[in-house]
Amino acid sequence: MKFGVIKETYDGEARVALTPDSAERIVKLGHTCVVEAGAGAAADISDDDYRNAGVEVLNSAAEVFAAADVIGKVRPPSEAEVDQLREGQTLISFFYPVQNEDLMKRAAERGATLVAMDMVPRISRAQKMDALSSMANIAGYRAVIEAANNFGRFMTGQVTAAGKVPPAKILVVGAGVAGLAAIGAATSLGAVTYAFDVRPEVAEQVESMGAEFVYLDFEEEQQDGAATGGYASVSSPEFREAQLAKFRELAPDMDIVITTALIPNREAPELWTPDMVAAMKPGSVIVDLAAEKGGNCKLTVMDEKIVTDNGVTIVGYTDFPSRMAKQSSNLYATNIRHFLTDLTPEKDGQIVHDMEDDVIRGATITHEGGVTFPPPPPKIQ
Ligand code: NAD
Repeated sequence: MKFGVIKETYDGEARVALTPDSAERIVKLGHTCVVEAGAGAAADISDDDYRNAGVEVLNSAAEVFAAADVIGKVRPPSEAEVDQLREGQTLISFFYPVQNEDLMKRAAERGATLVAMDMVPRISRAQKMDALSSMANIAGYRAVIEAANNFGRFMTGQVTAAGKVPPAKILVVGAGVAGLAAIGAATSLGAVTYAFDVRPEVAEQVESMGAEFVYLDFEEEQQDGAATGGYASVSSPEFREAQLAKFRELAPDMDIVITTALIPNREAPELWTPDMVAAMKPGSVIVDLAAEKGGNCKLTVMDEKIVTDNGVTIVGYTDFPSRMAKQSSNLYATNIRHFLTDLTPEKDGQIVHDMEDDVIRGATITHEGGVTFPPPPPKIQ
């Protein structure tokens, strides 16, 4: 099989789906790799780096589409890219099939197979292919770096000859993959870190990372906001009120707030209200990782950084993984390489698209001329 990676066409996207290291490992599966010239440039990977890893560099995306059996990319394909797919060809990328239904149908009509990295089931066996988690991990880390960069003081407390500096206080709202990564980055920079989640089972993880879990004044049995599969459900109005009351109490004392709260297939819950922003000290920073889904803070402007009248910076960027393109390309290309490993059971260069395999089935959204989304629930958890 020939695996081909094209340059991302989405404005400002710096990631790439193949690295020299992943290429070497894909070759060990009996495959060959081709890449579009310049595809890795924004992630600090030169064409020569690819050539040195045995990858053939082609001049255009059209040449890659013509040469490859399986195409790899990061962002969902454009219409023009889908229209270059041919019968029997496979494309692996993030896809978000619910948002991109027409594109999915178009690919099915062309007889192409689509593998959506965002649909890889979140079961233990598939963790190595879980690109949502790898990207959320980077976003959480980078959110803290972005906050620190916009905050005029140290993160850690210091006592020096020039005076005593208090540590920054950081509140992380939502302790999923991105939230836990943010907690890790915040505590390692020396900030006093607090975290809240509607799923009480994460309290232990939060505390083991050196942060303090924020408990609400609420009946314990009513506090559980967990739904199935480790995700959150919508909170009851009473619970939400208790949560907002706690945040109102914390707002004047927090220097940095990182919000990451999401509920699958819904707009992000609004948790950091304008009066909380107004209660924060000048110079405080909010980084809203839920900006793409409408934001956890009402004042967030997607893809922008704003400063409020009372001097609070609110960052609504949605491209944190792309801002660390070398790191994220590395992890994403590794996720894809693991998927290709599962598609090559004999390591003989032959792809076996086994629709009986939970992980392959879950991620495959079109196959052999039909739409195969949504998949049945995985058999093994
Ligand atoms: P997510 O991005 O959907 O949500 C982020 C966090 O926001 C979640 O922790 C959620 O509980 C929280 N949240 C939702 N509403 C909230 C509110 N009102 N207030 C505060 N917090 C709120 O979640 P995710 O990061 O993708 O992960 C969710 C779960 O899935 C985690 O438990 C994670 O460990 C689990 N997971 C498991 C695997 C696996 O392979 N087993 C892989 C990845 C994730």
